[in-house]
Amino acid sequence: HKAGTTVLEVDLARKMFGGLVAVNDMQFEVKAGEIVGLIGPNGAGKSTMFNLVTGLLPLTSGEIRFRVGNEMRRINGQSSRQIVRHGIARTFQHVKLIPDMSVLENVALGAHLRGLHGEIGGLAAAMVRGNRSEEQVLLFEARRQLERVGLGHLMYEEAGNLALGQQRILEIARALCCDPTLLLLDEPAAGLRYQEKQALAELLAKLRAEGMSVLIVEHDMDFVMNLVDRLVVMEFGTRISTGRPQEVRSDPAVLQAYLGG
Ligand code: ADP
Ligand code: MG
Repeated sequence: HKAGTTVLEVDLARKMFGGLVAVNDMQFEVKAGEIVGLIGPNGAGKSTMFNLVTGLLPLTSGEIRFRVGNEMRRINGQSSRQIVRHGIARTFQHVKLIPDMSVLENVALGAHLRGLHGEIGGLAAAMVRGNRSEEQVLLFEARRQLERVGLGHLMYEEAGNLALGQQRILEIARALCCDPTLLLLDEPAAGLRYQEKQALAELLAKLRAEGMSVLIVEHDMDFVMNLVDRLVVMEFGTRISTGRPQEVRSDPAVLQAYLGG
């Protein structure tokens, strides 16, 4: 999509868990080729917001729309499989790798390809079905995405031997196999060393330059402030601020939420 076109629209999204309003009439958008940071204290509702966008949880009320070709389509109510096919892929807060399998197999296992074959399910499903050509397509795609993220040289390494920063990038390669236009990353920099954070930031900037949209949850303020184009700040399920990093940094509502003053 052309840079600046809206790709994701969250419109008064609400999620209740019993009596708890985990996401309270949230409203924001993400444009093509934009990195948006979703920040806020623990329990603010950030992961729940991701689960609503990716169809893992149903909305209590409101609407979420995503660009499919020329039109914005309502995606809430659709299955996560359908949503992945529309072009939204994610990573999870905790890395889920099979440590004694190769990097390549780990990426291919998690690769939920769109369009290349009828059924989504990745390498394991292809192997179970005994479908060799499907397997080859998945491995080819996994190789392509590993080269794209700069892990090509580690393809045949056991995944468990990778440093944490490389494992996080492996997770991104896995998500890229869905051929997404929007990538959702839940705390990708958590626990990483400074150099690893730099490498991650460089990769995300490269993906943005290729037109990718990214919505990222992150606690490291220096990392996020230097990376994103725009921020959305949540507290108790509610959007308390939004804007460019410089604007948000000096917003009294944000200072209050973070300093608890
Ligand atoms: P964050 O990712 O910003 O730390 P979460 O989205 O994980 O916050 O959680 C927001 C709120 O919703 C918290 O109070 C949390 O305890 C609650 N919550 C999250 N998931 C569930 C669930 N499946 N059932 C009940 N409460 C939940
Ligand atoms: Mg979370």
